[in-house]
Amino acid sequence: MGQTILVVEDDARIADVIAKNLEAVGFECHQSPDGGRALADFARLKPALVVLDLGLPGLDGLEVTRRLRRDSDVPILVVTARTSESDKLLGLELGADDYITKPFSTAELVARVRALLRRSGGTLTERVTETAGLRIDPGRRTVERDGQPVPLTTLEFDLLHFLATRPGRVFSREALMEHVWGSDRVVDDRSIDSLVSRVRRKLETDPSKPRYVQTVWGAGYRFPEEGA
Ligand code: CA
Repeated sequence: MGQTILVVEDDARIADVIAKNLEAVGFECHQSPDGGRALADFARLKPALVVLDLGLPGLDGLEVTRRLRRDSDVPILVVTARTSESDKLLGLELGADDYITKPFSTAELVARVRALLRRSGGTLTERVTETAGLRIDPGRRTVERDGQPVPLTTLEFDLLHFLATRPGRVFSREALMEHVWGSDRVVDDRSIDSLVSRVRRKLETDPSKPRYVQTVWGAGYRFPEEGA
């Protein structure tokens, strides 16, 4: 059996074309016609990758991306008919791994899917992150530093896990708010700053010289790449 790919697309004709082409090269495809069903299908099927249309009725693709990223680092390939660069960038900031713009060639689609699966190492969606003395387990939602458990709240864990699984990338406060709180809550920049402070107090040996959640002046926050 091939790896399972979830194809989230409300246009049945396009979904069929995508699924047929991926099945032709050995993947199993499941189609979800809207965002709500996509989240349910994802939880049930645990696919190796999600091909996700941004323009969906109800929960749109950006919202689906944000919700998937709360618990999973499954590779997400965003498909967009939107010409706006900001949508693509927001998709990537929210945690999508790559995007492809309609109309696209099926060969390009298959190549992108294969490249993402290679990068992700296959089917792991609840990968434990171990870096710089930290062990972050998204399945158990636990963090250990040098073998000692560090109790974090859900929000604190989400922030740390989001940054630590994207080392070296700088995220603006807006992007972090979108990811950690979600667009349905109203928070401001200070909410992110105080969340970061709490994570540092619990995690860092010297919170004034953070080793894990670092400030990039004028830009936002990042988790450093290993060895950096
Ligand atoms: Ca659509």
